Amino acid sequence: MIILVINCGSSSIKYQLFDMKNDNEYNVLAKGILEKIGLPDTKLKHNPTGKEGFSRVSPIADHKLGMQVVMEALIDPVYGVLKSFNDIQAVGHRIVQGADFFDKSVLVDDDVLEKIGICCDFAPLHNPAHLLGIAAVKEVLPDVPQIVTFDTAFHQTMEPKAYMYALPYEYYEKYHVRRYGAHGTSHLFVSHKGAEFAGLDINNSRIITCHIGNGSSVTAVKNGKCVDTSMGFTPLEGMIMGTRCGNIDASILPYLMKKENMTPDEATAMMNKKSGFIGLSGLSSDCRDLCGFREQGNERAKLTLDKLVLDITKLIGGYIAEMNGVDLICFTAGIAENNAWLRRDVMANFAYMGIKIDNEVNDATRGIDRIISTPDSSVKVALIPTDEELVIARDTKHIAESL
Ligand code: AMP
Repeated sequence: MIILVINCGSSSIKYQLFDMKNDNEYNVLAKGILEKIGLPDTKLKHNPTGKEGFSRVSPIADHKLGMQVVMEALIDPVYGVLKSFNDIQAVGHRIVQGADFFDKSVLVDDDVLEKIGICCDFAPLHNPAHLLGIAAVKEVLPDVPQIVTFDTAFHQTMEPKAYMYALPYEYYEKYHVRRYGAHGTSHLFVSHKGAEFAGLDINNSRIITCHIGNGSSVTAVKNGKCVDTSMGFTPLEGMIMGTRCGNIDASILPYLMKKENMTPDEATAMMNKKSGFIGLSGLSSDCRDLCGFREQGNERAKLTLDKLVLDITKLIGGYIAEMNGVDLICFTAGIAENNAWLRRDVMANFAYMGIKIDNEVNDATRGIDRIISTPDSSVKVALIPTDEELVIARDTKHIAESL
């Protein structure tokens, strides 16, 4: 089955075209990204598998036109991989926020669209863009089933004690203020793949997944189900990230808003865009840059990276206690997949309980599935590169086939 997986941002469309035979037998035919939609220098980067790709800059006004450009790239006589649009049998979309409406992927219909719309309040940067993407696909491929996969769905198994805030209960009832988590598709993939890779029975396992990238979250997965996760009402909660502050004392907010005359929108932007690595270091939101500055002896870069290690450590420690032990700890996403020092330094904080990293293996590992703990480590530690698009393609195939 030929499946197009779409991840629409406010000014971008990322795509991957799969030829899915079954859950584990598939080919990625092409992938690409259209960036800066709505600006004069919209850029398309298209990479067909097995042949040369191309990139092109030309203005593209909106998502509808953007989707047409993506489709044309897929059927281009030179760079394309399909004969016609009609070869696409189903389309799967990544949706950031499904709140407590959705605990699994679903086929798009009017009711689903309305609920994704209601969730725009909780993900104002993402959900409106997803709706644009779904509408744009409908224009180009009106008869093709569209399936949506939610970043929040995997976290719907959390119990109330994990998802409730200790705020007046009426705000939960009136405004749905609770913890929803994020990166769920990644935590689902990594925990299940990690269990398989480490030879564990997922239904009888305690796994902690650390998705450490530009956005970061850590999740506790017991018997294959999420029991707790570090992101909350929005993806701002939890640990330090590229531009997000993670947990702070909530009293800081009204204090700073008064001192700096900030509006609620300005305060939200400060915490989401000007904090985290960039805010604390004053140098960069990118981990690579910070590592470079630290090497040159920059103290603020060191402080920022030390806080990154401490935040992950505290989450892992808490989740070990919450699950009454742990069988496997998995690292994934840009920072954790590419920085052996981070995995080593975080895991060194668990030497007290007998976790041991094989430094030689760890140092040599980047971007592949691998156990990085020693054979006598009390807990297995693994690097498992995430693949959210594959989860979306699998769910899309299952649902499209059942129609
Ligand atoms: P992600 O959001 O998963 O794409 O991760 C982005 C983060 O991963 C950025 O902070 C990058 O600095 C970091 N990263 C990506 N590639 C590398 C690399 N080769 N070495 C070090 N850090 C990397």
